[in-house]
Amino acid sequence: MENKELWQSVLGDIELQISRPNFLTWLKNSQLLEKNEREGVVLVGLPNNFAKEWVKSRYHKLILGSLRNIDGSIKNVDYAVLSQGSAHAVIVQGKKARPQEPVAAEEPQPPLIELKIDPRTNLNPRYTFSTFVVGSSNELAYAASQAVVKDVGKKYNPLFVYGGVGLGKTHLIQAIGNEISKEYKNSVATLYVSSEKFINDVVWAVRNKRMEDVKKKYRDIDVLIIDDIQFIGGKTATEQEFFYTFNTLYENNKQIIISSDRPPTAIPTLEERLRSRFEGGMIVDVEYPDYETRLAILKTKLQEKGSLVDDHILEQVATRVQKNVRELEGVLNKIIFYQQYKNEKIDTKKLEEIIGEAVQVTPKNITANDIIKAVADFFEVSPSDMLNRGRKQEVVQPRQIAMFLMRDILKLSYPHIGERLGKRDHTTAIHACEKINKECSQDHGLNQKILLIKERLFKM
Ligand code: ADP
Ligand code: MG
Repeated sequence: MENKELWQSVLGDIELQISRPNFLTWLKNSQLLEKNEREGVVLVGLPNNFAKEWVKSRYHKLILGSLRNIDGSIKNVDYAVLSQGSAHAVIVQGKKARPQEPVAAEEPQPPLIELKIDPRTNLNPRYTFSTFVVGSSNELAYAASQAVVKDVGKKYNPLFVYGGVGLGKTHLIQAIGNEISKEYKNSVATLYVSSEKFINDVVWAVRNKRMEDVKKKYRDIDVLIIDDIQFIGGKTATEQEFFYTFNTLYENNKQIIISSDRPPTAIPTLEERLRSRFEGGMIVDVEYPDYETRLAILKTKLQEKGSLVDDHILEQVATRVQKNVRELEGVLNKIIFYQQYKNEKIDTKKLEEIIGEAVQVTPKNITANDIIKAVADFFEVSPSDMLNRGRKQEVVQPRQIAMFLMRDILKLSYPHIGERLGKRDHTTAIHACEKINKECSQDHGLNQKILLIKERLFKM
């Protein structure tokens, strides 16, 4: 069976098993990119990282089950992000995979500059210091990054960069790598990896008894850049391997550069010894850019793309899109697309429409009901089952998670939380919150689910 047909059957199957809105939101734009016949692994592409994480954590079993029903030779499923803008190229762990057919995107996207990732370093040449706009939100991180280039392995080691989504962490840490490659040529071996890639390597090595290969790969380099380290926490074998790699490199004065969406202290699953290593280096954050920085970023991106957009439009965009540089860029891409490829004039109404499509609404006032609904949606249980006193097994954990989130996000009192979820006693609420809190630090999967629900909530 062709990949496309196979995926169509899987989707048809899944559509019957999950709610319509969830299906449309998460799976409608998915694709089967590759089927590795030899290993029995299927690669599924999702439009963005968020959808990827969500589908992986929420629907993996369903997808695998359905695939196997149709094709018994399939053993596992991997997930990848369909690369932004380009319907053809998909970046999978630094390699390119080719989907069979272009993504059925809602609308064509402007072509992006073809990415040529250096196979040796895994760095994307697009991310340089010269294209990174510096403002008060990121000047410390920028200065520390530059200092690392001057004094590789000596001054700020490890360098730990943290901050919210889309604020330039990946750009900055890759810029360090690119600058080092430029300055020191081949005399300094640099390697950039996502923590996902690192995890995959370790898991593969454990499975295939090839740990020596992995050790060699990671310990023979001079500059190790590892992105989104928060995902490593809680995976024992991986964390241990990372710890040894870290120590070996560190003791040999090799440079380590790490990014994360939060500071080391806030990664609950991270082993203490690793956390204290991180804290021994330089920790810098990137914050939301201010208006001037946002405008400068827009102008820089415009120049990179070689396009023209009126200043007053750029100003409006900079005013309206505040929380995420990736979204800023997304809006700009759409504007260029409408102007250049559709010859449309961008007036205020059109601009609002574009912004509305591209930007997540800034967190509104989240209510207890929103939390209940988001949790119920995630676990596909009925909110009313969560709210009543019944003891249905499938709502026990969702109910506890809802209690935990009400405490965590809304700071509601325990009696109030108990009351809301089935008129329960405040001790039940305390117990639920403590239990989830504790389990979160031990169970990476649970932690991930809660993060996804939270992200969803903030985007609702
Ligand atoms: P993060 O890794 O923090 O989620 P990225 O580094 O992927 O964010 O940044 C998202 C997009 O925004 C990238 O295209 C990046 O080039 C751009 N970007 C973020 N910050 C800046 C900046 N200060 N100057 C220029 N581009 C930026
Ligand atoms: Mg990143």
